[in-house]
Amino acid sequence: MRAVDLIQKKKEGNPLTRDEIAFLIQGFTQNTIPDYQMSAFLMACCFRQPNFEETLLITREMLGSGKTVDLSHIPGMKIDKHSTGGVGDKTSLVITPLVASSGIVVPMVSGRSLGHTGGTLDKLESIPGFNVNLSLDEFKKLLAKSGMAMMGQTADLVPADKKMYALRDVTATIACIPLIAASIMSKKLAEGADGIVLDVKFGSGAFMKTIKEARELSAWLIKIAKAFHKKIIVLLTDMNQPLGNKVGNSLEVEEAIEVLQGGGPLDLKELSLELAAHMIFLGRGASSVKEALFKAKGLLENGTALEKFKEMVKQQGGDARIVENFAYLPKAKRQQPFQAQEEGTVLEAHAGQIGKAAAILGCGRFHMGDQVDPAAGFVLHKKVGSHVQKNEALLTIYYNDEKNIALVEKELYQAYRIGSRRGTGRPLIMEILGDI
Ligand code: URA
Repeated sequence: MRAVDLIQKKKEGNPLTRDEIAFLIQGFTQNTIPDYQMSAFLMACCFRQPNFEETLLITREMLGSGKTVDLSHIPGMKIDKHSTGGVGDKTSLVITPLVASSGIVVPMVSGRSLGHTGGTLDKLESIPGFNVNLSLDEFKKLLAKSGMAMMGQTADLVPADKKMYALRDVTATIACIPLIAASIMSKKLAEGADGIVLDVKFGSGAFMKTIKEARELSAWLIKIAKAFHKKIIVLLTDMNQPLGNKVGNSLEVEEAIEVLQGGGPLDLKELSLELAAHMIFLGRGASSVKEALFKAKGLLENGTALEKFKEMVKQQGGDARIVENFAYLPKAKRQQPFQAQEEGTVLEAHAGQIGKAAAILGCGRFHMGDQVDPAAGFVLHKKVGSHVQKNEALLTIYYNDEKNIALVEKELYQAYRIGSRRGTGRPLIMEILGDI
């Protein structure tokens, strides 16, 4: 078999066989197929979408490229949650202790920030001492002990995806729904959970720009999960503006704790509770989503979830004093307001642009391996639908390094649209699909 013939075959729109897909993915993972041939193949996939059979084969090959986690010795249902990525999305920090405190085991494997999207691992690492670099054995031990653990992807979990994703990132081949579906599901399947709740985001700060694309991706994700006999629920949620009011690593930890303390912004609280409820329902911790939601609210209101969060911080080496006192989290040296140019209603707070501004400020990275500033970020004072006076602060910028401030402001100017129309609130959770 020759890679060039398979690229040609895909370029002409013909489906590849199991052996052909295995040849390409195994060859690329084992370095016998070079980057340039895999790039050409991935680009061909963008124009000649793999069909469902091929997507399933790609998922299987990627999954088989590394180890899979066996959690079967841990009693109880193991339910995972994954978000396709957004701005200000710190729900994993709320949900992990919340769902674990209901008795469901939560094996949370997360990623780092890239481009305009934030990453749970960077947020966790802003907690002094918090260790996300667990071995699989340590991860399993913590899951058995406390029912929860949060860590980064290890090198031996789906190495094919790691390599392919890095290549897709620099060859403009991310935006291909079957490839995205195979990439997400291969990782989720490798993590050994019994069920998965997915938060598929759409809008200016998401991979999927429209609900139509998000629906299409969700259909693929559900079909793949079914083929592997996994339970799955997908929530389609709006990511046209940041979630919550705080964007930036330690600021987002603060806001997650605020929700766990029973406060916090309503949008973040609503989404965290809904995702948690669907996880509890999928894990058979309640006989209906309504009952699961009631349970999740109770655990939040009576402080059980907050105590569980403290337990998680401690068990992973972090300084749990942050829960009572945010002064133990990294703090930026400087702050300045970003003011509205005119009076009116906020019609748009473009999540993609605000996320890009945050990354420029140092909260995120444009290349894997860039350093992040744990203290930098924004606190939003106005969201879509809010009224604002001329020169009133739309947000406050927290920073240590002023070298990029002008660039950050330039992005922010483009992010906001203020007009005279009345409130333009949109529902946050648009649709719920899957095993519901
Ligand atoms: N998230 C992933 O894990 N993979 C993709 O391809 C896109 C988003």
